[in-house]
Amino acid sequence: MTSNRPILATRRLGKTDLEVTVVGFGGIPIQIVPEDVAVAAVRRAYELGINFFDTARGYTNSEERIGKALHGRDYFVATKSGNREAEGVYRDVERSLANLRRRQIDLYQLHGVNNDDELDNVLAAGGALEGLRRAREEGKIAHIGITGHRRETLVNAIQRCDDFASVQVPFNVVEDEILDNLVPLCAERDVGIIAMKPIGGGNFTNAPLAVKWCMAQPITVAIPGMATPQEVEEDVGAAHDLEMTAEEQAAIERMRSELSHRTCRRCRYCEPCPQGVQISSLLHGRSIIRRMGAARWKEWGAVEVIASVDLCTECGECLEKCPYELPIPELIREAAAHYRTVPELTED
Ligand code: SF4
Ligand code: SF4
Repeated sequence: MTSNRPILATRRLGKTDLEVTVVGFGGIPIQIVPEDVAVAAVRRAYELGINFFDTARGYTNSEERIGKALHGRDYFVATKSGNREAEGVYRDVERSLANLRRRQIDLYQLHGVNNDDELDNVLAAGGALEGLRRAREEGKIAHIGITGHRRETLVNAIQRCDDFASVQVPFNVVEDEILDNLVPLCAERDVGIIAMKPIGGGNFTNAPLAVKWCMAQPITVAIPGMATPQEVEEDVGAAHDLEMTAEEQAAIERMRSELSHRTCRRCRYCEPCPQGVQISSLLHGRSIIRRMGAARWKEWGAVEVIASVDLCTECGECLEKCPYELPIPELIREAAAHYRTVPELTED
């Protein structure tokens, strides 16, 4: 793209044919920092060679901030909508275009399609896919993608629908199960893979190494969330050399063994709890606070989520259902104790 920017390695994003940098900009965290910091972070990413920026209608001001920071520059942008109806998602495309100050959006994704019922809804007549097809025919968007947390649903999506040019899914040192099925399927169908949460939603300590490991795998682009120019510099630094040394590989193995049985994958196989404990929400709260802020989580019902921990009778039913053998009662108690120290969540 612009000649005086550093060159980062690029990969083709499946049938979109877009040549995207191996590290992209995850646009969730810029909504919780002051606007000048957010704009500086986005511009720093661009200056350091990143050419792929991911955001969403649901990330409050993230689209506007990226639009403001990069107006007039040459970059690829992906955004997404959680609206499930054709008309609603079409209107969201128009809002995104205005927010991003663009005439066309390179990739528009169906946001958070997390189970087969939701997939049925978006693919049905009058569903969200229909709205994105219309926007694509009119040139408002160039390509359609899908995002979600459950790999089985995403596998079904790719098998059922040729429209999807990309899939965005959690992928990191601990959550690498997509290597078994989704990754080979995407290779076969020429679908690009956007790896979200390469540092576990901010939960891993050695973030640059976790990002580097992620980029060294057979995915297209890793999009760590970045909020400040310093975070951008760390993540881009990891993209300059994708060869993993023996020491780095050993550190990755240590990270995996420490975190594997303590990291919730948000698959929700453990739910519903017979007592009404909101297990996955309790386990996911830290990541929401880090990326969206405690105040936002409170608006979404954090107080009720946290209170639900007291309903746990330690019956053990969830333990049998969690495929990752997480010690759920212990983890939810730890999480709730932490939330009860966060002022925004405890004050009226
Ligand atoms: S606790 Fe286990 S089953 Fe429940 S959402 Fe997390 S990883 Fe999935
Ligand atoms: S152990 Fe607690 S959280 Fe798990 S199913 Fe039983 S009551 Fe629910």
